[in-house]
Amino acid sequence: MFRGLLKLAPVQGGVHPSANKARSSALHVSAAPIPPKLFLPLLQHAGAAAIPIVKVGERVLKGQLIALAPSELSAPVHASSSGTVVAITDVCAAHPSGFNAPAIVIETDGQDQWLPKAEASDAFQEDAMVLANRVAEAGIVGMGGAIFPAAVKLKQGAKHEIKTLLVNGSECEPYLSCDDRLMREKAEDIIEGARLIRHILKAFRVVIAIEDNKHEAIAAMKAAAEAYGMVEVEVVPTRYPMGSAKQLIQEITGREVPAGARSTSVGVLVHNVGTVYAIFQALTQGRPLISRIVTVAGGCVSRPKNIEALVGTPIEELFKACGGLTEEPARLLLGGPMMGIALTSTAVPIIKGATGVLALSKSEVQQDQASPCIRCASCVDVCPMGLMPLDMAALIKAENAEAAVDYGLADCILCGSCSYVCPSHLPLVQYFRYAKDKQAEKREAAKKLDLTVTMSLAKQKRLEQEKARKTAEKAAKRASKKRRPSRRRGSESAVLQEAPQEQKTAQETTQTAVEHKEQELIS
Ligand code: SF4
Ligand code: SF4
Repeated sequence: MFRGLLKLAPVQGGVHPSANKARSSALHVSAAPIPPKLFLPLLQHAGAAAIPIVKVGERVLKGQLIALAPSELSAPVHASSSGTVVAITDVCAAHPSGFNAPAIVIETDGQDQWLPKAEASDAFQEDAMVLANRVAEAGIVGMGGAIFPAAVKLKQGAKHEIKTLLVNGSECEPYLSCDDRLMREKAEDIIEGARLIRHILKAFRVVIAIEDNKHEAIAAMKAAAEAYGMVEVEVVPTRYPMGSAKQLIQEITGREVPAGARSTSVGVLVHNVGTVYAIFQALTQGRPLISRIVTVAGGCVSRPKNIEALVGTPIEELFKACGGLTEEPARLLLGGPMMGIALTSTAVPIIKGATGVLALSKSEVQQDQASPCIRCASCVDVCPMGLMPLDMAALIKAENAEAAVDYGLADCILCGSCSYVCPSHLPLVQYFRYAKDKQAEKREAAKKLDLTVTMSLAKQKRLEQEKARKTAEKAAKRASKKRRPSRRRGSESAVLQEAPQEQKTAQETTQTAVEHKEQELIS
């Protein structure tokens, strides 16, 4: 099936951390219990936070829309079970700072009662944009951790020629096995989802890329894909960060995505396997994104496994469902140990992009003291993006993030390979994450300043126009007053001839004043 068209090109760099996946990947996915309260953050995606459309005290049903997306880059939020909205308030967010973020809190009623669903139609007969909008309405974001609204990617088919839809099943982060289990248990649905996305993008072919350590998933996906032409399963080497889009594209197509460019520039679109499954559910069953499979693992978890959790479930409930914790974790993570977010509390709720929750023991956490860089260049050798981590880190440490940008900071995918190999135990990736956050804050502040200046100029212009209009009205009134006595003084016809002239002069005054002000504002 078009295998000959593929050019497998090994990517540079990468590391081989211990997989630690065996315990969680051995068990079937189980359903997490409905928690007493769901905490649904309004910001679970790239873009602006969703806007609540429910009130405290309101009863909601499972799958009901409870917060609207204010823009295309945002995603709506749906109730993940039935119950009553008891608060719209700040809750502990999935952020290393431990900051709070706004969320809708639902006290569940245990009935798990669905909102009546619309009858499903044959999605393959529908228009691409209609389907993409349905995916947007279902609140689907990238489920491999990227949290980018999936519909935005689907709409790329109308703008770019997409030759290949690449379904990412490589799941290279240690401990995580949610995609592996999903592929083993829902292979046919994933293939159907991939075919639907291909239909939306009008892509030529579909490639499902899976790392060579996932034998059962490879077999299941191959069996499900067999019936379809232009859907193929490719096995890629197990090497972190193979799951990164740019690395996978290079490995599969042999094409390198240029620095600062998107994958569409080489005719490829990548969707995580979990996202493809969510899109399948949305388009064939009308199901919004209200749950996801999460790997619960780490040395402190009694019974590590994959669990289907309702979005908004506090992670402490997931630990309980896995037999609890055997000891106080040395590190709590949302996501994998290489790219995950360190958490400060088990009260943090599961969000749509959460691939796993890890409770790591002391022996699993590297706690060596950092020492000065010995310029061994190991970090340079493993960087999959061909960057100079040691130089970038030195610049960031010297508070010169701008110079680090010149060294390629924007291209850093925060994979953590450099930190992993550094013999001096320098927290390199943390420097890069910090600098990227600071850069993003600066960009956001600049955008806000631009908006404030534009709004203030517009207001000034409005006030000037208003002033000019009032001046013109006064002038017109004065002119009409002058007309009345003139009836006694002179002939009526003379006044009738004179009045339009005065009105015209007033209008001209207004126009000139506005134009003059506009000119001032422009200059
Ligand atoms: S790996 Fe660590 S010690 Fe070696 S050059 Fe890079 S930063 Fe320096
Ligand atoms: S510099 Fe960035 S991309 Fe390169 S290894 Fe380090 S974290 Fe990964």
